[in-house]
Amino acid sequence: MDLIRNAKGFLFDLDGVFYQSGKALPGAIDTLDYLRQKNIPFRFLTNTTTKNRKTLQIKLSEIGLKCIEEEIISAGYVGIDFIRKMCSPSCRFFITDNLKKDYSEFEENPEKPEAIVIGDFDDWTFDLLNQAFQHVMNGAEIIAFHKGKYYKVDSGLRLDAGGFVVALEFATGKKAQIVGKPNKAFFQCALDDLNLTPEEVVMFGDDLINDVQGAQNLGISGILVKTGKYHEGMVESSGIDPDDFINSIADLPTILNS
Ligand SMILES: [Mg+2]
Repeated sequence: MDLIRNAKGFLFDLDGVFYQSGKALPGAIDTLDYLRQKNIPFRFLTNTTTKNRKTLQIKLSEIGLKCIEEEIISAGYVGIDFIRKMCSPSCRFFITDNLKKDYSEFEENPEKPEAIVIGDFDDWTFDLLNQAFQHVMNGAEIIAFHKGKYYKVDSGLRLDAGGFVVALEFATGKKAQIVGKPNKAFFQCALDDLNLTPEEVVMFGDDLINDVQGAQNLGISGILVKTGKYHEGMVESSGIDPDDFINSIADLPTILNS
C-alpha cells in the first residue's frame, strides 16, 4: 500500500467506486470528506456521458458527494475540445439530450455527417444503428466517448456503449477514435490539471481496461477497487496486472493513516 501512501494526488473512477445506481456507495462520502480535510488533490475521471458535467456535479452533490465541476474530467466534457481539434466536422450525435446541449457549437448534419459521435445512448434501434453504419460507409469518422463493455447497477450488469461502437467498427472496418478512458490524452488532461506527474498519482477504478490498464499505459499506478463490476476471476482471465487492490474506496482513509 506504499504507493497509495506516497501519492501526491489521486484519480478516481466514479461509477462503481463512489456511486452506483444513483446512490453513494458505503463510505464514499466519508472518504471524500477525509480527502478534503487533508487537502489531498484529486480528480474524478469518468467515461459517463449520460449527463453533462454541470448536471453530473449537481447529481453528485445531491447524493452527498460534494464537488465542483472542475474536479470532474468527463468524456462528455473533454469531447468538445476533441472535436474542435478535429477542426469541428459536421456531426450526427448518438448521445443523450442532456449532453447534446454542450455540443450546440457543432453543425448537426443528420444526412451526411463528417463524423458520428457516440456516447451513452439508450435509444438504439436497428434502424438507428444502420443509419450510423451508412454514415461511416459514406466517409464519416467514428468518435466514441468510450468503449465500456458493461457496468454495474443494483439490478445486475448493464450493457455499455462499447458494444455498439465495436459493432460499427466491425461492420465498416474503421476504427473509432476514443475520447475518454483509456485514451492517454484523457489521463494526461487530469495530470495537467493537478500539475502532477504519472509517478505522483494513483488511479482507482473498477474497470480493468479503462481504469487500471488505461492508467498503467501512461505510467500511472492502477488500483482495482473490488466494488462495482468487480467479480471473482475477472483479473485472472484479463491478462491485466493491477498494481494493487482495495476492497472499497471506504478503506482509503485507513490506508492513508496507517
Ligand atoms: Mg466504473
